[in-house]
Formats: sequence, structure tokens, C-alpha cells
Amino acid sequence: MIAIRRLSSLASPGAARRLIEFGQTIVLLTLTACAGRAAPPAGPAELNATLFHQLSAEYRAVVRQTFLAAEVKLQERLGDPDASALDEAMDVTDKPPAIIVDVDETMLDNSPWQVRAMRDGTAYPEGWAEWCEEASAEALPGAIEFAQLAASRGVTVFYVTNRDVSVDDATARNLAAQGFPMAAGIDVVLTKNERPEWGSDKTSRRLHVADHYRVVMLLGDNLGDFIGDEYTRLDNRGRQGAVDRFIDHWGTDWFMIPNAIYGGWSQAAVGYRRGLGKAGELRRKLRALDDGRPRQ
Ligand SMILES: [Mg+2]
Repeated sequence: MIAIRRLSSLASPGAARRLIEFGQTIVLLTLTACAGRAAPPAGPAELNATLFHQLSAEYRAVVRQTFLAAEVKLQERLGDPDASALDEAMDVTDKPPAIIVDVDETMLDNSPWQVRAMRDGTAYPEGWAEWCEEASAEALPGAIEFAQLAASRGVTVFYVTNRDVSVDDATARNLAAQGFPMAAGIDVVLTKNERPEWGSDKTSRRLHVADHYRVVMLLGDNLGDFIGDEYTRLDNRGRQGAVDRFIDHWGTDWFMIPNAIYGGWSQAAVGYRRGLGKAGELRRKLRALDDGRPRQ
């Protein structure tokens, strides 16, 4: 504190603070070098991914093309009375058609929350429930048009989300305010923990829908929006293998929206470990990648 006061007396408070921060950075870099580890990149890890989501023409194009392709395939699938997007659903005859869509980063764009977290230096779950309660997330480009087309063809749209049941009403409010179809008289927003058996694995909720509907299409941004924990909780090579195992579904009745900000792939890269801290996570992720050199 004495040093800070002395610095403050010599220079402006801003200059003194920058000098102190510079000193702290040098100490951190020295400690890191002494520990024999690569220094983690400066700045929030999600910065480039969030830029890509919020500002790039490229992300907008890939999201739009996914919904447009899904619209074409939906018409085809509705014409086949035996078509089902769920391998587990055996009896689909005479059931009305439905589609199951994920919410976050599939129908709704939460990148503003991500920007707040980066600017405030906070991390999930801090501020997440408050963001959901605001109910101000906007739709992904093409999402409303796709969902409305489905509804206009007599397809019930179910929103199966791993948002907690505590924000179920706010989520329904947000979706409705954006113009997504919300079938009257039935619960179409199925949240985590809404029932005791509805955990983070969405399989039980998909089968709940399949009890009364022929599920003709799934859309999501995470492998768990399509298949269960037995595949999605594997390491990243195992998760990639699961994609190949279900190759006939992709682009036919399963449609994936890219999410470069977060997802199972990110958790798998750190071995599903929690409490590593940002620097620890970054080191593990850097180690998980292949640099093309022979492995030691
Ligand atoms: Mg999602």
C-alpha cells in the first residue's frame, strides 16, 4: 500500500494502476515460467468464439443454411408416415408429428450474456438465472421461420432445454415474445428437473414426447440434443465416433447448429473436471490439441 501511495503521488492514478498491473503480469509470467508451464493466453478464452457468433457473416450463413435445409427435409419427412428421428421410438403409426428443438444457441442467442460475463470477469452460473429472467434473448437467424413453418404444417414444436425448471416460465415467455409457436394447452417447454426423472440427459424427455407424438426431427447445438450420456460423456474421440455411428440421421432428421462458445466438447477437453480455474482449463485444452509432432 505504501508503494501504491508513493506511485500515486508520482503519477496519475491511472498510470500508477497500469504500472502495478504490469508488475503483477511480470510476477505471474515469472511464476509460470518457473513452474515449467506455457503461459495461458491473455484475455477471456471465449472472446474469438463470441465474436464469431455475434458478428461474423460466416456464422449467420451456416445457421441460416442449416434451418433452410431442415425446412426442405421436414416436408419430406412429413410425407413418410413411418419416418421417425428417434431410434428408440418403435411405434409411431397414427401419432401426430412433432419436432424437438433445443433452446440455447439453437433457437435463442445468449451471446449478450457471454459478453457481460467477459466484461465483468464472471463465469457461468453467475448472472445466468438473471439473464434468463430478463427473457430478452433474440432468436437465431432463420429459427422462427423454421419453427413457424413446422407449426403451419401441423407439427407440434417441443423445446427441450437444460435450463433449470426455475426459469421455465421465463423461457416460455422469451420464446413466445420472439414469435416462436407455443402450442396451447400442453407443456411444450420441457426443462431440466421439471420432473424427478428429467436430469441433464435429455433421453427421458425425448421419450416422453414420443409417447404421444411421432418425432420427425431433432435440432440442437450439442451432441446431447440427439443422443444420451452413454455417448455424449465420452472423450472427444468417442464423441466424434458417435457422430459417425449415427451418420444416417445427420442432415436428414438431425440438424446441428454450431456452438464454438461452450458445449460438451469443451467439457470433454478437460476430462469433465471442475474447479480447474481458467488458467488450469486453458493449459489442459492446449495439451489436448494435436500439433502434428510425434507424441512423446
Ligand atoms: Mg443448446
